[in-house]
Amino acid sequence: MLSLEEARDRLLAAVRSVTETETVPLRDGLDRILAEDLFAARAVPPADNSAMDGYALRAADWPVEGGLALAGTATAGAPFKAALPAGQCVRIMTGALVPAGCDAVIMQEECEVTGQGRTTRVRLARAPRPGENIRRAGEDIAVGARLLDAGRRLRPADLGLLASLGLSAVQVLRRPRVALLSTGSELREPGEPLAEGQIYDSNRYLLTAMLRRLDVAITDLGICADTPERLRAVLESAARDHDVIIASGGVSVGEADHTRRVLDRIGRVDAYKVAMKPGKPFTFGTLGDALFLGLPGNPVSATVTFHQLALPALRHLAGERSEESPLLVPARAAAPLRKKPGRADFQRAVLYCDGDGGHRVATTGSQGSGVLSSVTRANAFIRLEAERGDVAAGDTVSVLPFDRWLM
Ligand code: AMP
Ligand code: MG
Repeated sequence: MLSLEEARDRLLAAVRSVTETETVPLRDGLDRILAEDLFAARAVPPADNSAMDGYALRAADWPVEGGLALAGTATAGAPFKAALPAGQCVRIMTGALVPAGCDAVIMQEECEVTGQGRTTRVRLARAPRPGENIRRAGEDIAVGARLLDAGRRLRPADLGLLASLGLSAVQVLRRPRVALLSTGSELREPGEPLAEGQIYDSNRYLLTAMLRRLDVAITDLGICADTPERLRAVLESAARDHDVIIASGGVSVGEADHTRRVLDRIGRVDAYKVAMKPGKPFTFGTLGDALFLGLPGNPVSATVTFHQLALPALRHLAGERSEESPLLVPARAAAPLRKKPGRADFQRAVLYCDGDGGHRVATTGSQGSGVLSSVTRANAFIRLEAERGDVAAGDTVSVLPFDRWLM
């Protein structure tokens, strides 16, 4: 049995990232993986502009007897183009170019304005400071600055940043092609009637949803009955045009669990059995050029192994290079927890503030690996280390808040 860390390392080592690129319009770039390092070809902002609504002036002119006369107006998109006469100022709005000769903007709340038109006079209560309220050209992004690294999963603010540079398209890696199936002769499609002994396929729905968050190309292979011939045909065909095949069910040791035996015959099993709970039968290997991930059939086990093992593998496959390490929050157990040493445990739980600046955590009830409602009620996993035993109420445990892949 591999430790969870060993299993993850081996799995990542077996994955080759996609390298083919494509160019997509910026508006389609969310969650895609950036294919190249991006440097700024221009400065943002492109020119000095005002950070306030107020009056632009030359600081050295102050004080001016009787106040500054008004030479004109500058608004965003409509600059004041003349040279500023000595002792005068320009009415200026946020985002407007700072007129030539001006080196300070005084916010209007600090100005006393009298008269109208040609007789307008602007008086200041204090000396202007050179540079105040001016956003300098390049203060957000300097020309040539390294902005985003290849391998970044593009976020909303990234797309805004690229737009601020005038880019309308972005080079990204192609999406991994993922085939997904459920194995089990007992499984039926939601919406169909159930005969005795049958249950609905929940895994394919929850796994499809997680894969969608990952923004991969999904082929839904449906449900495959527990016959080795059928499974073999489905897997061999999927391996031809997918980067990964994800199957749930059939990886334990029962008579109807054919997945591993079939994979062993037509491909290669790299590892099975991971010291985690739930999820021990997790299996992976290769089939032709495709990676094979075999998740246990119990829906909670499928969720946890997908999150802990399949997800890092798929992100690596997609070309994502992420520095982030999972956020682990120390919290005190609200009630005792049962745990046998040997396997890393992922108990479904609610993490909350205890009112004293700390955190508490309570499980969501029955921790059976088939109890999917324990996941829907949870906002976190209590992650108990493999070697750890029972936990007493009040003991500190590590908690893994649900991230964007689970929420
Ligand atoms: P298996 O890993 O195939 O031995 O399945 C373990 C348990 O999970 C059995 O009770 C199965 O009926 C159940 N199961 C397997 N696949 C699914 C699925 N796709 N949706 C819901 N339950 C499943
Ligand atoms: Mg089964």
